[in-house]
Amino acid sequence: MRGAVLYDSRDVRFEERANPTIIEPTDAIIRIAATCVCGSDLWPYRGIEPITRPTPMGHEYCGIVEEVGSEVKNIKPGQFVVGSFFASDNTCAICQAGYQSRCVHAEPIGAEGAQAPLLRVPFADGTLVATPDIPSDDLIPSLLAASDVFGTGWFGADAAEVGPGKMVAVVGDGAVGLCAVLAARQLGAERIIAMSRHEARQKLALEFGATDSVTERGDEGVAKIKELTDGLGAHSVIEAVGTQESMMQAIRSTRPGGHVGYLGVSHGVQLPGEELFFAEVHLHGGPAPVRRFLPELIDLIWNRKIHPGKVFDLELPLDQVAEGYRAMDERRAIKTLLRP
Ligand SMILES: [Zn+2]
Ligand SMILES: [Zn+2]
Repeated sequence: MRGAVLYDSRDVRFEERANPTIIEPTDAIIRIAATCVCGSDLWPYRGIEPITRPTPMGHEYCGIVEEVGSEVKNIKPGQFVVGSFFASDNTCAICQAGYQSRCVHAEPIGAEGAQAPLLRVPFADGTLVATPDIPSDDLIPSLLAASDVFGTGWFGADAAEVGPGKMVAVVGDGAVGLCAVLAARQLGAERIIAMSRHEARQKLALEFGATDSVTERGDEGVAKIKELTDGLGAHSVIEAVGTQESMMQAIRSTRPGGHVGYLGVSHGVQLPGEELFFAEVHLHGGPAPVRRFLPELIDLIWNRKIHPGKVFDLELPLDQVAEGYRAMDERRAIKTLLRP
């Protein structure tokens, strides 16, 4: 098969890779219906994370089970499945507590390289969730979104304790931030402030349920959030970037006693202890335990109650994966969907 391999900064190639095979008896092989480029793929693509060897890319996926190992009991060949970007046994104490992304046996799907026609998924029974039937084509982008970007946005809203009557702010207008807006709407937030200075993204945020957009950043952005929240700050703030600036903006936009759900993969973030002490906010985040939310999210998507797949504003055949990265790197696309 041919799949995406990152060689160096801005050098992603579509080239021959070995077909994946069952290695452990708990594995499944799935034929990818759709995969995509993640905002987190841009960190190594931009050379911010060093690339030491040619690396297969991609960790977001959905598709049809082709083969399962001898110990797989629930997942069956022919089923359409969605899985998280971390494989998990879904049975250990950490999984049972709802933190499957930190399962004692967690394995990153990124190491398998999902931007390819076939993918090996470890712990198939713990990782994958089957849809009720084979989905119609129009549902595939939203089901794919549940694999990471929407599941992650949902976790941010959950971690920030979004709920009815809450005032919510979202820092970051990438696909995860936009999905967090959609999650906050679904969870009943009263006011949802999207921080974005990009017109197309503001538009999608409003469509997803944002009530306000704020274009200011830094201290001015914080002041604007306070102005919109009775001078107090938001109850719930979702951070979806991962930089020092975005994290501090999130903490400073939260009222005392409020909650920050942080999702952006942290790059050089350092928290000043004294400010943190007096901020008196809850911090909860990390790699989203998407598996916890998958059954509920698949149900909402299957019944067409929500359409998170709208974050994909560019669709390309998988062999044009390099253009998919370029378009996101240059912010010409919010998120690229790829079909083998
Ligand atoms: Zn991702
Ligand atoms: Zn586990």
